[in-house]
Amino acid sequence: MSIIAENLQAVEATIEAACKAAARPRSTVELLAVSKTFPAEAVLEAVDAGQRAFGENYLQEGVDKIAAVAKARPDLALEWHFIGPIQSNKTRPIATHFDWVHTVERLKIAQRLSEQRPPERGPLNVCLQVNISGETSKSGAQPGEVLALARAVAALPNLHLRGLMAIPEPQADPQLQRQPFAQLRTLARDIVKAGIFIDTLSMGMSADMHAAMLEGATIVRVGSAIFGARHYE
Ligand SMILES: *Cc1c(COP(=O)(O)O)cnc(C)c1O
Repeated sequence: MSIIAENLQAVEATIEAACKAAARPRSTVELLAVSKTFPAEAVLEAVDAGQRAFGENYLQEGVDKIAAVAKARPDLALEWHFIGPIQSNKTRPIATHFDWVHTVERLKIAQRLSEQRPPERGPLNVCLQVNISGETSKSGAQPGEVLALARAVAALPNLHLRGLMAIPEPQADPQLQRQPFAQLRTLARDIVKAGIFIDTLSMGMSADMHAAMLEGATIVRVGSAIFGARHYE
């Protein structure tokens, strides 16, 4: 078995343990394999092990990889999620090539994605990134502006608002890891109470996925635990 296949098994065990601890069915959590900086060959190994959903942060790298993987496995329908920062002049390739975007933080970006979504691809699934307590990157909408943003994005014709996403500051203590995830869950509940449909909490990475699932994550975005340590140029 390849290392990637072994790692996927270990991550699956973590997901199953967290679901058990939270008394949630396994089917309520989707594993997004974050393949940024890794080549198409690594994605194909994960595909061979049964993984179908992949996340990319860098636009050109992601678009190239989507094409390379589709060429190698034209028989398979994979799901590609854009999870990196969005520049407003680079929305068209995102709207064209991806199935999901997790990092919408402004209405302007959402409007462009909706306008540029090719109609034959169906609505683009969107999560709003929230700058929950001390988010490292400082990106994301402020919690107080998320409800209004959700209302406006939900009204756009070619987007399907799915939920909220956050990247909390790294925190070693598992108990403290849960706090920002609980805050995101509460925000999502307020949006649902306001009558806006959402069904997704995109939260939790390799180091804090267990805590995120205890607080209701429906998508965990896991990179290094599957593909190994990243080396940036
Ligand atoms: C890189 C990245 C991940 C995966 O991080 P790991 O710690 O490698 O699991 C998840 N989400 C986002 C937004 C990322 O940029």
